[in-house]
Amino acid sequence: MPDSIRSDRESMEYDVVIVGAGPSGLSCAIRLKQLSPDLNVCILEKGSEVGAHLLSGAVFEPRALDELVPDWAEKARR
Ligand SMILES: Cc1cc2nc3c(=O)[nH]c(=O)nc-3n(C[C@H](O)[C@H](O)[C@H](O)COP(=O)(O)OP(=O)(O)OC[C@H]3O[C@@H](n4cnc5c(N)ncnc54)[C@H](O)[C@@H]3O)c2cc1C
Repeated sequence: MPDSIRSDRESMEYDVVIVGAGPSGLSCAIRLKQLSPDLNVCILEKGSEVGAHLLSGAVFEPRALDELVPDWAEKARR
């Protein structure tokens, strides 16, 4: 029987599954957990690690991050 239809495969249940650990997916996950800490959130990333596919010219507009995590700069220094 092909693996894709085997019923004995290990499975995990989540409330929300987000595809892609880029800024959008990570922001979505952070906001969901802020609003509902008990929610089980899973992020699927095809890269080898979070941020593996991030491209940056080092231009940073922090407005959205300020709204999402107001004390981000303080936390980064810790
Ligand atoms: C060369 C370059 C330089 C840039 N410089 C800047 C800058 O200086 N400042 C700035 O603010 N913005 C910059 N940007 C823009 C910035 O990278 C994007 O706005 C931002 O990454 C968009 O975030 P996103 O989460 O929507 O998408 P992405 O960052 O593309 O994230 C999507 C993620 O989903 C994953 N994924 C896709 N399909 C699947 C799948 N089927 N299964 C699992 N995972 C999947 C990808 O691997 C990726 O990690 C730059 C972009 C480029 C191309």
